[in-house]
Amino acid sequence: ALTIAIVGLPNVGKSTLFNALTKNNVLAANYPFATIEPNVGIVNLPDSRLAALATIFGSERLLPAPVSFVDIAGIVRGASEGEGLGNKFLANIREADAIAQVIRGFADPDVVHVDGAVNPAGDMETINTELILADLQTLEKAISRFEKEVKGRKMPPIVLETALKAQAVLDAGQPLSSAKLDIEPIRELGLLTAKPFIYVFNVDEAVLQDAEKLAVLADLVAPANAVFLDAKLESELSELDAADAAEMLASTGQAESGLDQLARIGFDTLGLQTYLTAGPKETRAWTIHKGWTAPQAAGVIHTDFQKGFIKAEVFSFDDLIAAGSIAEARAKGKARIEGKEYVMQDGDVVEFRFNV
Ligand code: GDP
Repeated sequence: ALTIAIVGLPNVGKSTLFNALTKNNVLAANYPFATIEPNVGIVNLPDSRLAALATIFGSERLLPAPVSFVDIAGIVRGASEGEGLGNKFLANIREADAIAQVIRGFADPDVVHVDGAVNPAGDMETINTELILADLQTLEKAISRFEKEVKGRKMPPIVLETALKAQAVLDAGQPLSSAKLDIEPIRELGLLTAKPFIYVFNVDEAVLQDAEKLAVLADLVAPANAVFLDAKLESELSELDAADAAEMLASTGQAESGLDQLARIGFDTLGLQTYLTAGPKETRAWTIHKGWTAPQAAGVIHTDFQKGFIKAEVFSFDDLIAAGSIAEARAKGKARIEGKEYVMQDGDVVEFRFNV
């Protein structure tokens, strides 16, 4: 499943946030086949369409799209040079689809800041520098290997060329995601700064309602990739049942919990969307990339569905809800039969037909 690695300086609230993520695991019990590792927390992508569909279909259970978060050891200045921690943290983040950087915005004088003062911009720079240095190390090793293999004609030159271009970007102090460089030929290296980033500002509860202060932080990053939350509040919310949590959230003036925002923004950042299946057993959201065709989408359920794909019966969510049942939607001509070329739309409700 989609995995996002959590990084940040020590004492910024990573563990607090991560505890909230793991306590939030109520619905993880719905995924009996997924082994939940101790350092993995799951948030379900909030989606009010699921409950609406489940009512129509009388579904026994709801399965929202899960987003996993992996907790990584804190990064300190010089981490990329440190033998032990350096390598371990690298191996874990390399596997992730995206990186969530937790940045301290909360004031609390009782919590020591590693660099002496709360300084979001400075902290981001420290982390980004460490990630750039880590990528440079990875590249340095790879390049000497690539040179030999290209010389021996065991590898296409484009791999080496791309690695050298990437090295130049990083040498200039820039993350790879900021450069217009197609890193596909060196994807196997799992370079960190080429991954999409989410910035999680851990702020005091009062700041969550202070538009001016939020704007100052939002200015540090692309706003579409920023999440503002209070990790302590999130951890308290995660201990409450749904009704109490909603009440507490409302009392802080927020429409959505920080964890829900995190899941949503993680999804958007990675260019993902969901389609839905529904029946008496379950109503479920399936994660796909934007632009995927119907057979590719079917393959997420089972590879056999993709191989034997014949066609898909597709309803738009709104049509189905308006009709009140599949039979009525069909009678009204709202069922679309789509073939192999069909590009899936967010919120399509689908039934696949396939050969086995
Ligand atoms: P980590 O080192 O990044 O994992 O940071 P922790 O989650 O262990 O947090 C470090 C300290 O800061 C702990 O004492 C937390 O209780 C405290 N802390 C974390 N988040 C917040 C927050 O949002 N507000 C305040 N006031 N304290 C926090």
